[in-house]
Amino acid sequence: MEEGKPRHLQPDFYGRFRCRASACRHSCCKGWEIDIDENTLELYQNLSGSWKDKMDAAIVCDDSGAHFRLTEDERCPFLREDGLCELICAFGEDALCDICALHPRFYEVVDSYELAGLGLSCEAVCDLLLAEEGELTLRCEETGKKITLSLLLKSLGCKNAEEALRFIPAEDLSGMLLHLERTEPIDEAWTENLCRLREAVKAGAVPALPNGPRYDRMLQYIVYRSIEHAESAGWPAVLCYAREGVSFVALQDALCGEDPEHLRRWSEQIEYSTENVDLLLNAVK
Ligand code: SF4
Repeated sequence: MEEGKPRHLQPDFYGRFRCRASACRHSCCKGWEIDIDENTLELYQNLSGSWKDKMDAAIVCDDSGAHFRLTEDERCPFLREDGLCELICAFGEDALCDICALHPRFYEVVDSYELAGLGLSCEAVCDLLLAEEGELTLRCEETGKKITLSLLLKSLGCKNAEEALRFIPAEDLSGMLLHLERTEPIDEAWTENLCRLREAVKAGAVPALPNGPRYDRMLQYIVYRSIEHAESAGWPAVLCYAREGVSFVALQDALCGEDPEHLRRWSEQIEYSTENVDLLLNAVK
C-alpha cells in the first residue's frame, strides 16, 4: 500500500450493487436537480444533428452552473417512459455526467481512510443492507482484509463502539418527531406522514418498537455514513442522530408493517440535505 494514501474501505455488499433501472420504483432520475460537470457539458454541447437541438432544450446554464431542465413532473428529460436512460441507450455509460455515473455511491475521506458507500435513498441499496443480519463489515480495497464497523469506530476514537452499535429505540418519540418536523420537507407527503405519526404517538396508539439485528444493521449503516461528522459534532451526537433515525423507521414499521421503504424514505428526506443532517445533529448535541 502506498504510504500516506488513505485506505479505501467499502461495505462488504458494495460490489453486489446493481441499479434496477427500468424495474426501480423510485428512480433517482426523478425529483432531484441533476448538475452537469464541465467535461460532460462540453461533450453534450459538441453533439450534432438532432441531438444538438435536444441538448439545447434539455440543458439550463445559470449562476449555479449547468443542469438538466426537468419536466413538469420533475423527471430528467432523458428518462424514458420504460425507465431507461436515453443517453445510455444512445451513447453508453461513458456519456453520463459525473453525478449520474456516481449515484448512489458516496466517498468521504476521514483520518487515514477513504470511506465508500451506497446511499440509502436507493431501494436496491436498502435491500442489500437488510438482506444480512451480522454486524456491518468493511472491506479494505488495498489488502482485501475485512474489519467490523466497531473496530473502525474504535480506531477513530469512538468509545464503547460495540455497545453503541446495537439499536435501542428512542424513549422520547415525540421529541424525535419534533426534531424531524424542523427539517426542510422533501415533499408534502413527508409532512403529512409526520402529522399522522405525531397523532398516533400523542394518542398512545404505538406498540412497542421493534429492535434486533435488522435495526442494528440500519443503525450501523447510518453511523457509517455519518462518521465524517464525528469530529465537528462529537460521537455522542452522531450515535444519537442515528438512533433517532432508526427509531423513526421502527415507529413506521410498528404502525404500518415492516418495509425497507421506511428506511429509504428517511434517508431521502435527511441524508441528501446537508442542512437537514446538521439540524438533526445540533438538535441532539
Ligand atoms: S434509485 Fe437505485 S435502483 Fe433506482 S434507478 Fe437510482 S440507482 Fe438505480
